[in-house]
Amino acid sequence: MASRVFSGIQPTAEMHIGNYFGAVRNWVALQDTHECIYAVVDLHAMTKPYDPANLRANTERMVFDLLACGIDPEKAILLIQSLVPEHTELCWILDCLCPFGDLRRQTQFKDKFDPLEGQDATQFVSAGFFTYPVLQAADILVYCADSVPVGKDQEQHLELSRDLARRFNGQFGVDFFPEPAVLFTETPKIMSLVDPGKKMSKSAGERHYIQLFEEEQSIRSKIKSAVTDSGDLPPGAEMSPGVVNLFEILKACGKTEEAAALLKEYNTGKRQYRELKEVVANALVELTSGLRARRDEITKDVPAVNAKIREMSERAREIAGANLKEVRSLVGLPERAS
Ligand code: ATP
Ligand code: MG
Repeated sequence: MASRVFSGIQPTAEMHIGNYFGAVRNWVALQDTHECIYAVVDLHAMTKPYDPANLRANTERMVFDLLACGIDPEKAILLIQSLVPEHTELCWILDCLCPFGDLRRQTQFKDKFDPLEGQDATQFVSAGFFTYPVLQAADILVYCADSVPVGKDQEQHLELSRDLARRFNGQFGVDFFPEPAVLFTETPKIMSLVDPGKKMSKSAGERHYIQLFEEEQSIRSKIKSAVTDSGDLPPGAEMSPGVVNLFEILKACGKTEEAAALLKEYNTGKRQYRELKEVVANALVELTSGLRARRDEITKDVPAVNAKIREMSERAREIAGANLKEVRSLVGLPERAS
């Protein structure tokens, strides 16, 4: 069977360079070699408190961003998760197979809320946040996708998806769901600009990330104030995480020669970061201005994009619906009139 790829991105905020270098750029490349289904996973963006108008606007914007990055409706399916209700239907079926303890052990949950791990039990954490790894499993399995290009931060979730596929097959005595595998490629993990010990993420707040479509001045000022170190490290001292991150960003922009030259200077003891920051900012401005131009082009006809995304979501429903029909029959639910 040909390999089918699935991956998703949350419309929690605008796309940032970590999403692009770590995931989306790779999604674009995979379109040429695999059958790909990509989703703007709006239901996942509801697991934490949110504003409905923002969710709607971010979902629309994420579609534009993905198309501007090169996701091509001629080569791949790009859908909005909530337009394909089969995801949530399969999620319930998988919820009923998923051991509670497996969800309690998920790192994301333990980090946020787990009184047994000493977390604050009074803060609001939704049941949706607790069970969202099952929805992620459903996102993948509803298409019987076998390859999932994700970053290292998602490895544990994929393990759960594999367990649920195995559990389903075992319980119903079939070989229906493939166990999805991580499609690891050389993608960097980009760290926060103000807290380089943590990964760059949308939900951490705007100061932590650089949007892929950010204005030049704002990119320059964020890079200028990115946390590094004072530059007074003794020779041979380990490079600080903020500086490592700037080098990573430079390499991800394809500026490997510039990175090598600056690294040489760094190793000879020149630890003033003004030049490094300027080179990084220039590289990002170059990359983002090209992408911004493409997005401006795409947003000239918003109704056409909205129609296209609905059409692709319908195509996705056909694939998901056919799989769900078999699942419903296997688990003992009545056949639905079509
Ligand atoms: P949120 O804070 O809302 O979870 P996020 O920035 O973590 O946002 P996601 O929508 O959860 O983004 O993830 C989309 C994809 O981007 C995933 O494949 C994830 O592995 C990848 N990704 C997210 N952050 C980074 C990062 N800092 N570096 C590299 N890849 C990343
Ligand atoms: Mg995330």
